[in-house]
Amino acid sequence: MEPVISITTQAERKVTDTKSLPFGKIPTEHMFVAEYAGGKWQNAQVVPFHDLTLSPLAMCLHYGQTVFEGMKAFMMNDGKINVFRIDKHYERFSKSLRRMCMPHVPKNLFSDAITSLVKVDSDWVPSDEEGSLYIRPFMIATEPRIGIKESDNYLFMVVCSPAFQYYSEPLRVRVETDYVRAAEGGTGDTKCGGNYGGAFFPTHKAKEDGYDQVLWTDSVHHEYIEESGTMNAMFVIDGILITPALTGTILDGVTRNSLLTVAREKGIAVEERRISRHELAEALEDGKRVEAFGAGTAAVVAPIKTIAIHHKEYNCYIGEDALMYQLKKHLFDIRKGNTPDVHGWNTII
Ligand SMILES: *Cc1c(COP(=O)(O)O)cnc(C)c1O
Repeated sequence: MEPVISITTQAERKVTDTKSLPFGKIPTEHMFVAEYAGGKWQNAQVVPFHDLTLSPLAMCLHYGQTVFEGMKAFMMNDGKINVFRIDKHYERFSKSLRRMCMPHVPKNLFSDAITSLVKVDSDWVPSDEEGSLYIRPFMIATEPRIGIKESDNYLFMVVCSPAFQYYSEPLRVRVETDYVRAAEGGTGDTKCGGNYGGAFFPTHKAKEDGYDQVLWTDSVHHEYIEESGTMNAMFVIDGILITPALTGTILDGVTRNSLLTVAREKGIAVEERRISRHELAEALEDGKRVEAFGAGTAAVVAPIKTIAIHHKEYNCYIGEDALMYQLKKHLFDIRKGNTPDVHGWNTII
């Protein structure tokens, strides 16, 4: 049995103007925390946001036993607040935890943690069109011990931060053929901390050369497109929506899944398959209309205007009538309550 969540609120709540600040800088007033010890979850609480006290021996600081999720709450047109696709995020969180040998979180502990925190901090859900409340559930290993082993103690936490438009400009990306993000049998399909630390260096190099992001390729051939930075990669070629299949090295993005579902419903041809950088270069060289974009919770759809493949730059289509914008709009309409939520994606709190 998971514990009941106790709630302690701040006497005075303040919502600051966070619009001008970079994404994720300002947490809301409260956070959720539960402790895992002796094989069970306890002390589940919503409390005022505060810094943690950790032993310098805490295992998460040394061996990367950390897992996170990223999801959003939206204010609907009728003023109600919904959390988008809790179930799908829970499934992925559970999968990541299993892969990292971390304790299972019961489903109602996960969803109650999120909904009770969002309720307490509901003033922080932006009401304007592009705004949302970014929700970050995560778990860290806290056992104080230098030895390399699975931790016996953990914290499961949730923090939130108001979010506005993520990328303002269409991206310039470079197909990466020297470094890889994930290899078969590795942790590429989980949201564990180490995947991101390892991606900084190649991304940094791409930035030095004038690109915003890398397009990762597979670890064996450096040929097949995998992801776009920390987003799933999607292309529209000849009106067909193409995205790399989930082969184990690619994260099963919730936005990816939502966009594919919406596209299929709209009668758009969808292909989940391998797509090589050569196929991409050929389509661009033949003058085909190619849309390219990243799909993820933070940006939803991040249009790509330029792709560099083997030192040659190609331009992608970013015109107003691009399919990617229609798909983004459809998702937006579901979240806002403009379009019926036929899949039950919105959890209204
Ligand atoms: C989180 C993430 C995504 C996008 O997943 P969403 O569920 O759509 O936010 C894609 N790739 C990587 C590597 C990620 O970490």
